[in-house]
Amino acid sequence: MSKPKRQEQEDAQEEISEVAKDILRMQLPIRIPGLGHVNMYALIDNDGAAVIDPGLPGEDSWSAIVSRLAQADLKPKDVHTVFITHSHPDHFGGAVRLHQESGARIVAHRAFHFGGPSGSHKRHTGPDAHVHGPDDHHSEASVDDLVAHMELLERDRRRSRNPLTRIFGALRRITTPAPWKGPADRAKIRESLRWLSFATLGRSKFLPPITHHVEHGDVLKLAGREWFVQHTPGHTADHICLHDPETGAFMSGDHVLPTITPHIGGVSYLSDPLKSFFYSLDRVGEIGGVDLALPAHGHPFDDLKGRAQSIKEHHYERLDEIREIANDIGRADVNAFMKRLFKERSWGDMAESETYAHLEHLRLEGQAEAHRNEKGRLVYDI
Ligand SMILES: [Zn+2]
Ligand SMILES: [Zn+2]
Repeated sequence: MSKPKRQEQEDAQEEISEVAKDILRMQLPIRIPGLGHVNMYALIDNDGAAVIDPGLPGEDSWSAIVSRLAQADLKPKDVHTVFITHSHPDHFGGAVRLHQESGARIVAHRAFHFGGPSGSHKRHTGPDAHVHGPDDHHSEASVDDLVAHMELLERDRRRSRNPLTRIFGALRRITTPAPWKGPADRAKIRESLRWLSFATLGRSKFLPPITHHVEHGDVLKLAGREWFVQHTPGHTADHICLHDPETGAFMSGDHVLPTITPHIGGVSYLSDPLKSFFYSLDRVGEIGGVDLALPAHGHPFDDLKGRAQSIKEHHYERLDEIREIANDIGRADVNAFMKRLFKERSWGDMAESETYAHLEHLRLEGQAEAHRNEKGRLVYDI
């Protein structure tokens, strides 16, 4: 018997629904392992609408945006604001086109950054960052999760000349070099960089210009209400949520999802992404009076605090598991921990990156030591 679908995996419904006064949930299709739809929320006011997280780039998603808006008697030109919770393409894909159609302002966190090496945000990664030479360009927060998001597009890429799918292909490869790997594992990086510089020529086609940068505590007026920006780094460094204290509504993006835990990758310009994530979960847990959490995937839910707490507990359990694995196998590299921590069907770069995030958290908390073995790979003693 197959397992029932998690709500985040359900296919996008065509019908829109009003989840609160002047807030419409519009489900857009995505083809991503583990996720069946992304929620674009339309917040209606006298000037038109603001939309939050307008789905993936591409024609399928665009025609869904147009038809969902039409059900609310809206056209793309009525959209005056696009709010992006974080730098994953299933959340910002429609932004460029909406901006072209209506001149909508595009709002995102001031650290909004999509993929690829960049001087401004690069951080020293891992316990021996100082030994990294100029060739060690690490991928960043968003690229890592993007990999999972884009696996199907990557398959298409092999058959496609579409620059968009080639970009994702390049990003797929650029995640191969990872700080926990040895030099032999990382040899492919130069080829990846060539791909990326080629592919980035097409970036402006899908990467939205952020016209309005915000940060924690900023206030936005949408749907006739005042929303406070909550910076919630962890899933990505630039993740933001929106809170309306008056009606108790909270836009949780991918930070807090109803039944799945968002991916926490270890390659980020946050020095300890898991610690940041814990902090951000506590931060939203402390907000009182939230009775309507509106996630980017899955159905609205009411217990934001309880859900944030159980996601945190999930990661504490993972940290315990890692300690137990270490008792069993002793000093080991990230791949060895990953193979014990994850089921075989999940093995790969994503699982390694999440394992690395947990190992680095233990190291930075003083509970583990790391050094490079003879192959140049990071090994951990816990
Ligand atoms: Zn995401
Ligand atoms: Zn997402």
